[in-house]
Amino acid sequence: MIARRLLAPPHGWARRADVVVVGSGIAGVTAALSTHAALPESNILLITKSLLDDGSTRWAQGGIAAALGPGDTPGQHLADTLAAGAGICDVDAVRALVNDGPAAVRRLIELGAKFDRGAGGVLELTREGGHLRRRIAHAGGDATGAEISRALLCALAEAGAGADEGIGIDVIEHAMSLDLLLAGDGSVAGLTLHVIGEGQQDGVGAVHTPAVVLATGGMGQVYSATTNPPVSTGDGVALALRAGAEAADLEFVQFHPTVLWLGAAARGRQPLISEAVRGEGAFLIDGSGRRFMTGRHPLADLAPRDVVAKAIMSVMAETGTDHVYLDGTQLGEDVWEHRFPTIRASCLSHGIDPVREPIPVVPAAHYASGGVKTDLHGRTSIHGLYACGEAACTGVHGANRLASNSLLEGLVFAERIAADLATCLPPRQEPTTDARPPGLLEPGATDQIQHLMTERAGVLRSGPGLVAAAETLRKIGDQQASRPGPAAWEAANVHTLASVLVASAALRTETRGSHWREDYPKSSDDWIGHLIVTLGQSPVVRDPEDDDGLTIRFVPTPKEPARE
Ligand SMILES: Cc1cc2nc3c(=O)[nH]c(=O)nc-3n(C[C@H](O)[C@H](O)[C@H](O)COP(=O)(O)OP(=O)(O)OC[C@H]3O[C@@H](n4cnc5c(N)ncnc54)[C@H](O)[C@@H]3O)c2cc1C
Repeated sequence: MIARRLLAPPHGWARRADVVVVGSGIAGVTAALSTHAALPESNILLITKSLLDDGSTRWAQGGIAAALGPGDTPGQHLADTLAAGAGICDVDAVRALVNDGPAAVRRLIELGAKFDRGAGGVLELTREGGHLRRRIAHAGGDATGAEISRALLCALAEAGAGADEGIGIDVIEHAMSLDLLLAGDGSVAGLTLHVIGEGQQDGVGAVHTPAVVLATGGMGQVYSATTNPPVSTGDGVALALRAGAEAADLEFVQFHPTVLWLGAAARGRQPLISEAVRGEGAFLIDGSGRRFMTGRHPLADLAPRDVVAKAIMSVMAETGTDHVYLDGTQLGEDVWEHRFPTIRASCLSHGIDPVREPIPVVPAAHYASGGVKTDLHGRTSIHGLYACGEAACTGVHGANRLASNSLLEGLVFAERIAADLATCLPPRQEPTTDARPPGLLEPGATDQIQHLMTERAGVLRSGPGLVAAAETLRKIGDQQASRPGPAAWEAANVHTLASVLVASAALRTETRGSHWREDYPKSSDDWIGHLIVTLGQSPVVRDPEDDDGLTIRFVPTPKEPARE
């Protein structure tokens, strides 16, 4: 059973804020900056689990997609996004993304982000899988995320200047959010967090606030092989679920097809070889040098990620190998140095020079298309709780994210949240109390879950494998931790997400987008829609008999999508 108990009871220090933003990637920092711009007299607290730039944002390579090039239009970007999403994107959310996108990227440029430019200062735009046009803006060749993060954090430092006087943006690093505090009517009243700090704000404390923006990023650490950094343990989604919020589409995990293969025993964050390398002309080959994407899909090596990842898994099964190769030798040294210096350096540090030899690659968990379910303004099913970035499920990705749409999604929907907060900041409320013992897991459980998930709920899934995974997860859930602490809290979050993901994947008896069932290899019209998950029956139920349990309902995608 999945615990819906708090990770730690609120005790120790307490403080107040008008808005709390959790996370300091593109989504969190944009939400904080935009809210500050919209509500300059308010006190915004931004907390982040590790250092400010320790999330996925700084690792983003390929770039950010928006219809910025000559001849490109939001309508074409919309069509490509819908095609990748395999029939279950929320069209209104995609429309918001592609229509707001170009102006949001221009604001990022005005803020100081320096994207690569060609002759005459024209923005250089590249292509990635699933895009029919060049529309990906990039920076430092393949260091887009690092540049965006740098620009946003500079702006944050400037905006935070007035925080000591009770207005502006206050920032706390090494602060892990644990749980929401709810008012009697089920709306947000605050947040508990654990701070590794000095002085008054150390240990577990509480922030009383009527508005929380979750921007905690992805959940790649649910798997043993992932491109995501260690902070990506899906905490925001897990804490939202514990509070009774709806999450959606958690079965749709995108596995990046080309992650540097470091040997069968490799674990943790593994270096990504961006799709943009294929966009510039590199192609996949098997051990005998055969190009295996040709003829499998009209876009060949630039097919959507799920198609490429599945093709790689098939080739590996056919040839009895545990990796394939990405051949970029024909790009030449100049292209590698100008466009992909970070990737080349990363390969070189592992003894592979992509200028001279094909790169061994394998798929790994990369992006969570699902998350806390939101509307077009980032609002969740709990009043006062917002979510944006990878932690959210806005509906733009459907069953499969189009490359480079995630940075844009973080930017656009964070701005939308700020606009919503500016029109109706919720009133403050007193939190109710919850005196039950915390639900924690032994830290060692994380490693067991990660291996189980890679083996049973990875690129290839089957009914029996998922049933076995659910059973093992139930047993792992019995490994209650005796001592609280970040590792035990993360283990509880990873366990919650793995359990919900496996349950959703087992229910969806079809293959769609990034969810590939070997026993149901085709898409089914019966499954055109979303699996929406909640823990428990109601955000305010506190009956110990009723506090564990999972509710999953299927909501069909409307045939004629409504317009905004
Ligand atoms: C290697 C790699 C390459 C990528 N390349 C691209 C690309 O080219 N284009 C693209 O569009 N997307 C790309 N992506 C995806 C994209 O980078 C992410 O989806 C996006 O950056 C997520 O931004 P975010 O703000 O939602 O989360 P993140 O940037 O991951 O930030 C999450 C933040 O939340 C904090 N946090 C987590 N849990 C807690 C907690 N409990 N309490 C407090 N703080 C917490 C983290 O410390 C972090 O600051 C890539 C991802 C990876 C891993």
